[in-house]
Amino acid sequence: MGLVPCHGDQSLTSEMDFFIRRANEESHAGIRFEKSEDSRQESSVNGTVFEFSIETKDWTLGPEGYHLRITRDEGVRLVAGTSSGVFQGIQTVLRLIRNDDRRIPCLEIQDHPFKEVRGVHLYLPPADGVEWFLRLCDLLAFYRFNTVYLEVGAAMEYRRHPEINTAWVEFCRKMKTFPGGPEGDDGMRSQMGHFKDSVHIEVGGGAFLDRDMTQYIAEQLHARHLEIIPELQALSHAYWMLQSHPECAEREDDPFPDTWCPSREDVYQIYFDCVDEVVEVFRPRSMHIGHDEWYSIGICPRCRSRSGNDILGDDVVRIHDRLASLGIKTVIWHDKLHFYSGKEDDGAANGGMERFQFNRRTRKAEWMRETFRAADRIPQDIRVMAWWLQTGESPKDKEFLDYFQDRGFEIVLGNLDQLQYGIGVPELEEMLRRPNVVGAACSLWHETSDAGFALKDAWVYLLEASRALWSECWSEATRHLDMFEIAALYPAERDRLNGISHPPGLRARTVDLSDVMESLSEDDPDFRFIAEEGMLVGVPEFHLEWTRTPMTCLPRAVRIGSAVRIPCEGTFESICFLHSYSVDLGMVPLHGCTYAGPEKDVIGVYRLVFEDGVIEEVPVAYSRTISFPGRAFNAYHADPAVLRANTTIHTIDSGISTVSVPETSTRMAMYHRVINPRPGGRLLAIEAVRKGERPGEILLFAVTRLE
Ligand SMILES: [Zn+2]
Repeated sequence: MGLVPCHGDQSLTSEMDFFIRRANEESHAGIRFEKSEDSRQESSVNGTVFEFSIETKDWTLGPEGYHLRITRDEGVRLVAGTSSGVFQGIQTVLRLIRNDDRRIPCLEIQDHPFKEVRGVHLYLPPADGVEWFLRLCDLLAFYRFNTVYLEVGAAMEYRRHPEINTAWVEFCRKMKTFPGGPEGDDGMRSQMGHFKDSVHIEVGGGAFLDRDMTQYIAEQLHARHLEIIPELQALSHAYWMLQSHPECAEREDDPFPDTWCPSREDVYQIYFDCVDEVVEVFRPRSMHIGHDEWYSIGICPRCRSRSGNDILGDDVVRIHDRLASLGIKTVIWHDKLHFYSGKEDDGAANGGMERFQFNRRTRKAEWMRETFRAADRIPQDIRVMAWWLQTGESPKDKEFLDYFQDRGFEIVLGNLDQLQYGIGVPELEEMLRRPNVVGAACSLWHETSDAGFALKDAWVYLLEASRALWSECWSEATRHLDMFEIAALYPAERDRLNGISHPPGLRARTVDLSDVMESLSEDDPDFRFIAEEGMLVGVPEFHLEWTRTPMTCLPRAVRIGSAVRIPCEGTFESICFLHSYSVDLGMVPLHGCTYAGPEKDVIGVYRLVFEDGVIEEVPVAYSRTISFPGRAFNAYHADPAVLRANTTIHTIDSGISTVSVPETSTRMAMYHRVINPRPGGRLLAIEAVRKGERPGEILLFAVTRLE
C-alpha cells in the first residue's frame, strides 16, 4: 500500500524515504508502503492520499511545528514550514499507522514542541553495535528527541593522530582488569590519590570506529533529524587524549592522566587537530567541550602562578574562538563556572568554589582554586549544560538558573535521567518554563548498547523526558499515570529496539505450580501489592499484550530456597517466568560497568530439562532478568507484567507558602520470556536453582508456556 507524493517548495526525499521505511516497520496489517513518482491523482491507496509538503508561508508553525489533517476526501495532508516540521508530522502519522487496522482516523492536529532542545547524551557505540544504535535513533526520533550529544573521545579514528586511538584501546584493556575497575572508591580513579572521575572506557565499546563508520553514523542521524553535538572533552576528563600524550598532563605523577596542562601550546595543537577531524565527519553546528569536574588546577610549575579563573577563562575563550572561526557554537558543562554549596545543604563548597581536597596517596590536603569568576569573561553565546540537576531538597538548587540567566547564558538541563529515581525532578515544570532554559537532555553513562540500557531504568527517563520536553501539558503530578503508560509501551518498544518479532497466534498455557507454591506471608510486605493490585482482583492474571491471552497468577509464590523442581511437559515456542527478587541489591555504579559481564549479577538459574535428557540453563540475573519490586523497569531483559504506582501528596511548608509535592512509588513484577533454545524440543520439567552468595531469594509467581 501507499504511494507517497512529494511536492512543495523543496525536496523531501530523505523524509519520504524515512517515512516509507518506518511505515512498513510500524504497519502490522500487512500493508506495504512504496514510493511513487506519480502525480497526486494516482497516489491514492485504499482511497488514502498521502501528501507531505513544505509551505514557507506556514512559518507560523515554527521550526518543528506541523499541521496534519486527515479526511476521507483528501487523505493525509501534512504541511510544515520546514523539513524538520514535516519530519515531526511524520512521527505522528507513524503513530496512527501503528494503531491501524487498515484504517487511519480522520483528525486535524496542529502541533509544535515545547522545548527547542530535546536531547540524549550517548557514547559513540561499539563497532558491532551500530545497527542497534540506529534502531535506538529511530526510537528517539519517534519520541521526538532532536539532539544527540555524542561523546566521541578517542573512539573515532584520527588520521592525524593514530597514536590516540592505539593508546585508547590499550588504556581500556588495562582498565578492564585494573583492581577495582576504572571507577568506584577502590578503582583506578581513587588509587591515583587525587580526585578525578568519569573514565568512560565504554565510549566506542573501549575501542574505536573507523572514519567510514563514523561518517555513516553521522549521515544516518542526520536523516533522522537528530542534530549531532559531538563532545570532545577538553581540559578535564581528557583521558582519551592524554594516554598517548602524557607530556601534556597537568600532573606528572599520574600514570592515567585526565587533566591537561592549559599552559602548554602543544595541548591545543593536538586538540584542534582532533576537532578538525571531528568537524570533517560530523559537520556539527555545535560542539560540546566538556570541562566538568576540573579538579587538578594550577598544579604544575607553569600553571602555579595563574589563578583558576584565568586558566579556565583563557582555555574556554581559546577553544570557543577556534570553534567560532569554523562557524561552530560551543557547549560546555556548567559546574566550574558556578559557585554553589553542597547538595545536602551542608554548606560544603562545590562547583567552581575554592576548596580543599584530600590526596589519598600523598596524605596531604590540596587547595583547589576557585574558577567560577571565569563565567564573567567567557562569551555569552556559549551554551551552558547543567549536569547537576539536584533532587530538589534545597531551594539553592535553582540558583544556578538565576546565576546563568543574570549573565545572559542559555541553559540546557543535563542529566534529566534523575527522572528515573522515582522522586523525579521536583520543580522541573517550573524550570522548563524559564525562558533561558532552552531544553534538556537525558544521559546514558554506560555503553550505548542493549547491555548499557539493561543497567539503568533507561526507558523510564527517556519516555518521561520525551513527554516533558514536547508537551507543555506535562506535569510532575501525572507521573504515576505515565508509569502505567510506559509499562504498556515498554515490551513492544524493547523488542523493536532489539530487532525481535513474535510469531502470531501463540497460545498461553499456565504451568501448574500449586504443589510447590507457598502463601505470601507478613514477612513479604514488598510483595503484598501482587495480591492487592487491581488487575489481580478476582481471578488473578497478568497479560502478555502481544498475545492478548491472560496468564494466571496467584498471590502465592514459589520460593527458590535452594532448588525446586517443577513438572512441565510439552512443546513451547517460549516460556515466561513472572518473578521478583526479595532484596533490593541497589543500582549499578554510575559510569560504565557493562564490561564486567552479567556473571556477578547471576543469582539463580532456571534449568529447562528436555525429554531427551538435554538441559538448557537460563541465568536469573539481577537488574537484567529479575528485579526488586521497588525498582521500576530495572530489569531490561524482562517486561513489566504487574505494576502498581502509588502517588502520595506531601505538603511542604516553606515558611512563605505551602506547596504540594507528589511522590511516586512504583512496585513492579517483571516477566522474563525465554525463547525455546531447541525449537521443537519437548520439555519435561523446570528446575529452579539458587546461585551465589548474595542475600535474598527468588520469588516465582507464575510460569506460562507459549505454543
Ligand atoms: Zn599546567
